[in-house]
Amino acid sequence: MTRRRREVPTPELRCPRCEAELQRFWSHCSNCGRRLEWRDTPKATGAECYYCRWVVSDSFAFCPWCGRDIRDRDSSPEPLKAPKGFKYDRRCRWGCGGGVMYPMAYCPWCGRREKWRYRDRFQNICPHCDRGVDDWMEVCPWCGEDATGRDLIRQALRRARQLLVATRVTAWNYRVLLRPGVSGVTPLTPKIIEIERRYVTRKPRRDEISWNLLAGLLLHELGHSFLYHNWAFTRTGRFRRAFGEVRKAYRVADSKWVDFERRGVTTTLPNFVTGYAATHPQEDFAETFRFYVARRGRLRELFAEFGRKRKGVIVFEKFLVLHDYVRSLRGWR
Ligand SMILES: [Zn+2]
Ligand SMILES: [Zn+2]
Ligand SMILES: [Zn+2]
Ligand SMILES: [Zn+2]
Ligand SMILES: [Zn+2]
Repeated sequence: MTRRRREVPTPELRCPRCEAELQRFWSHCSNCGRRLEWRDTPKATGAECYYCRWVVSDSFAFCPWCGRDIRDRDSSPEPLKAPKGFKYDRRCRWGCGGGVMYPMAYCPWCGRREKWRYRDRFQNICPHCDRGVDDWMEVCPWCGEDATGRDLIRQALRRARQLLVATRVTAWNYRVLLRPGVSGVTPLTPKIIEIERRYVTRKPRRDEISWNLLAGLLLHELGHSFLYHNWAFTRTGRFRRAFGEVRKAYRVADSKWVDFERRGVTTTLPNFVTGYAATHPQEDFAETFRFYVARRGRLRELFAEFGRKRKGVIVFEKFLVLHDYVRSLRGWR
C-alpha cells in the first residue's frame, strides 16, 4: 500500500510587527523596517551563529549572514556544496570551490563577500546598498534604508510638494523613486516617477547637486505623471488645439535634464515655453506644467514675461488650458 503524499503548502512568512509578507533571509521587513532574525526554529541544522544568531551549519567556517569566523572542530576542512538545511545555488564567486545559497552575503567556506544578480528578481536596485528592491517597498529588506531613495532628495521633494500645494493642484498619489538609467514616467505605471539616481548617489558630489535643478526635474516629471493620470484631458478639443497630438509613439525618458534648472522662459522659440518643450507634445505639456507650478499658477506674472519675450498667442493658451483644467479638478468653474 502506498501512502498518499499530501501537498503541504509553504507556510507564509509574515512580519511579526506589521504582518507584511516577507521572504526568508531578508534582514528587514520591507514595509515597517523591523529587523529580522532567521534562527534555526524548524531545527533543520541544529546550529545558530554565536554572533548574529541566524541559522548556520556546523560545517561552515564563516557565518554567511554576518561574515564572522565561526570555525570550530565540527567545521568542514574542505568547502562543501550544500550541507544539510541549505540549498546549492551556485559556486562561490571567489573560486574557493564551495557552494553558496541565495541570498548569502558571505561565502560560508572562505568568508568573502558574495553578490547576487538582483535584477532578475527585483524591479529596482536600492540606492543605498545596490541590492534588489521592488517599487512598492518602503524599506530595503537588505540594508534597512529607504528603498525608494526619497531620503536622498528630501529637500527637492519638499520644494515640489510645497509648490503643488501653493498652485492648488489636487494630489494624485504619485510615488517618486530613484532608479539607474534615465528620468521619466511610463504610461503603464503613471504614478511612478523615476529619477535618475546617478546624480544623487555618486558619492563625493552629493553636496554639489543643485536643489533647483532637482526640483525642476521633479516638477517636469510630475507633469508627465499628471497628464497620464488625467489622460481624458488630452482628448478635449481645447487641449489638442493647444498642445497637439500627444499620442505619438513615445516613451518618456528625460536624459538631458540639465535644461530643467532654467527658471526663465526662452526667447528663441515663440510657440514654446522652452526649447525642450518643442521636442514632443508630451514634453510641451510637462514643461508648461513645470512653469505653471514653479510660478504657483500666477498667470499674470507669467504672461507679462511672455509679452516681454514675444511669445505667440498659443503659449498663453497652453497655460490657460492647464489653468482651467486644474481649477475644474477642484470643482470650480
Ligand atoms: Zn513589518
Ligand atoms: Zn552571524
Ligand atoms: Zn568562497
Ligand atoms: Zn539597501
Ligand atoms: Zn519629459
